[in-house]
Amino acid sequence: MKVFQWIIAFTQGKFMQCLVVVAHPDDETIWMGGTILKLSDCRWHVMALCRGDDTDRAPRFLRAAEALGVQAYISDLDDGSPKLAQLSDNLHEIKCRVAPLAARGFDLIFTHGENGEYGHTRHRQVHRAVREMIESGEARGDLVYFDYRKVGSSCVPCRDAQVLLELTPDEHVAKQHIVRDIYGFRPGSFEYESAGLVEAFYASAQAGFQLSTLLCSSFTHIGG
Ligand SMILES: [Zn+2]
Repeated sequence: MKVFQWIIAFTQGKFMQCLVVVAHPDDETIWMGGTILKLSDCRWHVMALCRGDDTDRAPRFLRAAEALGVQAYISDLDDGSPKLAQLSDNLHEIKCRVAPLAARGFDLIFTHGENGEYGHTRHRQVHRAVREMIESGEARGDLVYFDYRKVGSSCVPCRDAQVLLELTPDEHVAKQHIVRDIYGFRPGSFEYESAGLVEAFYASAQAGFQLSTLLCSSFTHIGG
């Protein structure tokens, strides 16, 4: 589905099936929680690959999923600190976790940016794994990925992002509530400050920035 079809589908209120694949519980909210809230007519499925065995973080993810109105899935991919375990070159550890869900087929599949937003190794690996799965047909859906960059002590949307989606004040407050009150990130933290008013994406289609502007206005119209 090309971006213009995406716009038409959203403006016509079609119930789209959307999959979000992220590394950690909280990534779904920080990078695109407002989009999920705004497009509440979509059927959202959100998979966090890490922390399924974390007795603190996993329940927070389920609470966040409830607040976002999404179907949640969580797995136990290594998120070791301070040193991440090495994954295989073909990222099998990620792909085998994503494959059963992704094979169902979705209109859109959202995931991390190529740069991992701020260079996080697992974020970058999830991007590559999901991208390769879509290219190989192992995952069915059109790729949309986050488009942020780190500036100072938080991340901001890339200026040339194809899709810049501005949240309504209510949507932003709801997103901040999840980041602060469910995940426990205080104002001033990297996570809280990165959960901004504008969400940024690259969509896998031959469309320019003009289309993203149209998409943005469509979203605003729907959300408003
Ligand atoms: Zn993360």
